[in-house]
Amino acid sequence: MPVQEIFQKIAPAAIQRASNRLARGAGVRENLQPLLEKMLGRMEQAMLAGDPAWVDPIVTEWAQAGTQSDLEGVEQSLPRILREIIIAIQETITETLPPAEAVELVNLLQPVFLHALEKAVTAEFAGRLEYATQERDNLLAKLERVDRSKSNFISVAGHELKTPLTLIEGYTAMVGELVPRDSDQVHLLLQGVHNGIKRLREIVDDMIDVSMLDNGLLQLNYQPVWLNRMFTLLAADFVKSLGERKQTLQVNTFPGSGELIFADQERLYQVFKNLVSNAIKYTRDGGVIVIDGRTLPGFIEVTIKDNGIGINLENQELIFEKFGQLGSVALHSSGKTKFKGGGPGLGLPIARGIIEAHGGSIWVESPGYDENACPGSTFHVLIPLRSQPEDPKLARLFAAEEGILDSLPEITEEDLK
Ligand code: ADP
Repeated sequence: MPVQEIFQKIAPAAIQRASNRLARGAGVRENLQPLLEKMLGRMEQAMLAGDPAWVDPIVTEWAQAGTQSDLEGVEQSLPRILREIIIAIQETITETLPPAEAVELVNLLQPVFLHALEKAVTAEFAGRLEYATQERDNLLAKLERVDRSKSNFISVAGHELKTPLTLIEGYTAMVGELVPRDSDQVHLLLQGVHNGIKRLREIVDDMIDVSMLDNGLLQLNYQPVWLNRMFTLLAADFVKSLGERKQTLQVNTFPGSGELIFADQERLYQVFKNLVSNAIKYTRDGGVIVIDGRTLPGFIEVTIKDNGIGINLENQELIFEKFGQLGSVALHSSGKTKFKGGGPGLGLPIARGIIEAHGGSIWVESPGYDENACPGSTFHVLIPLRSQPEDPKLARLFAAEEGILDSLPEITEEDLK
C-alpha cells in the first residue's frame, strides 16, 4: 500500500488520540479536531514531498496564536503540544499497522517530526522574547509616565506653595513689627514661626530647582570663583551646627583651591553646602569632616569626606535620584543637621544636576553602611577647570583687568548676537 494511503488510514485515530492527550473537556476536544486535522495534513504533505519545511506555516501560525482562543483550554507550550501529537501518531502507528508498514511510515515521518519540533522551539522562543521585549517596553513607558507625573507634581506643588509661603512670610514679619519689643515670649514664638518658614522655603526652592533641572531650564551664571574663599564662607556658615554636634570641619589647602575658575558661584555653593550638611547629618556627634582636593587634567576634584554611618554599595547611585533618601521617614526632621535627620531627598539630585550642567560629575565612595563602625563616605566633585568665562564679552572684560587682552581673539559679529 502506498505510504499516503497508510498515513490516511491511521490519521483519524491519531487525531482522536492526540486530542484526548491534549484536551480534557469535550468542547475543547471538538475545537481542537480541525486544527489537528490541519497539522496532520501538513505533516503528510511534508512526508510525501520529502521536505519537512511544509510544516513551517502551520507551526508559525500556532506559535503566533499564543494564548489566543484557537488553542484555548490546552496548556500553552507549542513544543509540548507537538510532542503529544507526535507520540499520539507513533502510538497509533505501532498499535494499528503491521510492523513493516509501521517502520516504513515512522522512518519517513521522523525528519518531519524533528523539523517541526525544532521549528516550534525556535518560534516559541522568538514569541516569548518578543512578548518579554514588549512587556519591558510597556514597563519603561509606564515608568517614564510615573517619573513625568512625579516631576509635574513637584513642579506644580513647588510653584503653588511659593505664593502662600511668601504671604505667610510677609504677614509674620508685619506681626513682628507690631509686637512691642519687650514682649519676649511673643518674639520667641515668632522666631519659631520664622524658622519653620525658612525651612519650608528651602524645601520649596529645592522642588523648584528639581523641576528646572528636569525640564532643562537651569541656567548657569558663570563668574570668577576661588574655591578656598568659598570653603571659608561655608565653614563660617556651619559654625553653629558643627558646635551643636561637636563636630570638626577641616578645610585643607590643595592644588587648585586658590586658582581662579569660572563657574556659577551660587550654584556651586549650594552643592557644597548640601554635601557638608549631609556629612554633618550622617555623622555621629564628635565626627570629623574633611574638605580636600587635587587638580586633574582639565578638572579640579574636590572631596568631602566624613567618618559617618556610610552608604551601602547598592545605594550609592540611588541617592542621586529624586526622593532617594534611605533612612526611615519617621526620622525626618525639620533640623538640617540633626543626626540622620533625613530631608525630602532632593539635595543630591540637585547637586548632580548642577555639577553636570557645569560639565563635571559627582559620585560617592563608601565601604558600606554601619552605624556602629562608622566607615564614612567620601563625595567626589569634578569641576571643569575653566580659566575663562563662557561669554566672550565677559572674557574680554576679565582679560582687560588682568592686562592680557591681546592674547584673546577679537569679538565677532556672531558673539554680539
Ligand atoms: P536628604 O538629605 O534630604 O534626605 P539628599 O539627596 O541630600 O537628601 O541625600 C539622599 C540620601 O543619601 C540621604 O537620605 C542619606 O540616606 C544619604 N546620604 C547623603 N549623604 C550622606 C553621607 N554623607 N553619609 C551617609 N549617607 C548619606
